[in-house]
Amino acid sequence: AKAARRNAYRFFEPDMSVQVKTRMTLDVALRHALRRNEFALHFQPRINLQTLEISGMEALLRWKHPEFGTVPPAEFIGIAEESGLIETIGMWALEEACMQGAALMRRLGRPLRISVNVSARQLQAPDFADRVSAALRAGAMDAQLLELELTESTLIEDLDRSASLLKELKALGVAIAVDDFGTGYSNLAYLRRFPLDVLKLDRSFLVQQDEGISNVAFIKAFVDMAHALGLAVVAEGVESPEVLEFLCRTACDEGQGYLFAEPMPVDAVEAYLSAWLAGALP
Ligand code: C2E
Ligand code: CA
Ligand code: CA
Ligand code: CA
Repeated sequence: AKAARRNAYRFFEPDMSVQVKTRMTLDVALRHALRRNEFALHFQPRINLQTLEISGMEALLRWKHPEFGTVPPAEFIGIAEESGLIETIGMWALEEACMQGAALMRRLGRPLRISVNVSARQLQAPDFADRVSAALRAGAMDAQLLELELTESTLIEDLDRSASLLKELKALGVAIAVDDFGTGYSNLAYLRRFPLDVLKLDRSFLVQQDEGISNVAFIKAFVDMAHALGLAVVAEGVESPEVLEFLCRTACDEGQGYLFAEPMPVDAVEAYLSAWLAGALP
């Protein structure tokens, strides 16, 4: 038994240190990433399910490291949150989304809602609302067209802080979306407390099962409840025509997913939008 334990330990240890090393390496690399211009934003269109028009797009961070290649957000956002780097990286994403989004709208001559993800750590900055305001000004971006996506856990971490901050953001004219709704607490009580605009239904609800779409009853009830509270519902991860058809039937307001488009660099999303405006897309 002793030998087995020793073997297990020896087997486990190098693996651990590789993980720790990778984290440290990524952490160090992240510190230089902004200055070295390694970040980019990709944009994923969001579709109005009643009109099938493009209503806006979500800005998603991409990190391209010269050696590691493209590191997915799932791997670096957490590290950036722990080290606090998310404050500057998140600010960069917000400023860049305002700047690129507003410029794209001017070129297309059409308003689009731009959604930006915000981490809990960013909200802790006492001047967060001022920073949002500054980003809007720097990008010459209409506040009404900016939407900030916050997760449930971010919102309920500090209820009083969230309530007062959301009030400040609403005063700027910015819209607030709850991201990944349904994955965490799904505590409906707080929804009434906050001035929210949009609920983004997590894509885990749209996972197809053998007998069709799972959670049908839940999604229907959810959409009705959101509408009763005056909130719009956006479904994430729409990948199939069956799911799209189902969402239209349940009166879900908007959808986002690979069925419509993947996240794309700004020039590609501009081409996509131009083609769509010219009627070249189905
Ligand atoms: P999220 O905010 O829930 O973003 C949606 C994720 O789902 C994106 O992954 C998107 O590429 C992916 N997705 C979109 N449509 C589909 C689909 O039809 N099927 C599937 N399977 N996936 C789809 P991505 O870009 O890898 O981002 C992962 C997460 O990283 C985001 O999840 C968000 O939590 C975080 N993140 C990304 N950019 C930022 C940022 O600028 N700031 C912060 N704080 N977090 C960010
Ligand atoms: Ca999001
Ligand atoms: Ca989400
Ligand atoms: Ca997420």
